[in-house]
Amino acid sequence: MKLLFENWRNFVDSIGEAAEPTPFKSAAQKRYKAQRKRNDMYSSPPGHKNLSSGSPFETKPKRAGTDRLRFEEETELENWRKFVNEEVEEPITTLRIFDFDETIAHTRSETRVKAPDGTELTVRSQQEFEEYMRAAAAKEGIEAFDAVDALIGLGYQIDMSDFSIVKDPHEISVITDIMREFPPNSKTYVVTARQGASLGPIMDYLDELGIDSSQVRPIATQGESKGDVMVVMMKNKIMDNGKSNINRIEYYEDSQKNIDDVLRKVCEDPELDDIKPLDFELIINKVINNDGQYNIQEIEC
Ligand SMILES: [Mg+2]
Repeated sequence: MKLLFENWRNFVDSIGEAAEPTPFKSAAQKRYKAQRKRNDMYSSPPGHKNLSSGSPFETKPKRAGTDRLRFEEETELENWRKFVNEEVEEPITTLRIFDFDETIAHTRSETRVKAPDGTELTVRSQQEFEEYMRAAAAKEGIEAFDAVDALIGLGYQIDMSDFSIVKDPHEISVITDIMREFPPNSKTYVVTARQGASLGPIMDYLDELGIDSSQVRPIATQGESKGDVMVVMMKNKIMDNGKSNINRIEYYEDSQKNIDDVLRKVCEDPELDDIKPLDFELIINKVINNDGQYNIQEIEC
């Protein structure tokens, strides 16, 4: 979509700035000008000065039909064609979706929590974080997929500021080696539960790792369900036969909670069958950390 708007902007720029080095010098242009004059297509001030009601002709008069807008240049057509054809020229059939924390990199981020009863806790791993959130949500009777907002509403102080930066990162190369190769007909996303402010630092970090971040689209779900995001992506491009253009999703993730959510919404939901291509595949690559040694466990739909 970004490319689409870029092409559109280029197209608008190119027609807006179509330069005419010698305007109205050709025989044809002189004829047009003479004709406009005969047709009296001029706005002119005479007889309309300083009317108390305000004259439409108080501004500098401008001849009609003298805008420099032209549709003559080959390049303009080229831009237009690019604008129209972007989606057609880019037959995306595979989505590659990477989580960030504990999937692309391990960071030294901590979450500091203070409950309304005064108890304090520093949480150092995602697993610990999910366990705490699950327990706190159960205690408070919260059913949201992500309980953070609701808990804050109840007076919990949850400091996740470490997650707006990439703090002391350690690359998980079993994943980044896969990420670095961009297969044809695929689109690569980083989908993180972090806040939007973290996306810039994450993209900078990818560049540091030698991963071309211009080929990666970052999405911050801010705790919303990644399964829902994938469903939207599949519904985004429906072909004439009513099926999604996406026949393969590769999902790289460490959190079992997120994996269960994606299995439920993308793999098992019968409502999605209508738009799922017959050869649809969801390949989940679970990232497992064994004391700093990272492995991939494949989970199929
Ligand atoms: Mg993670």
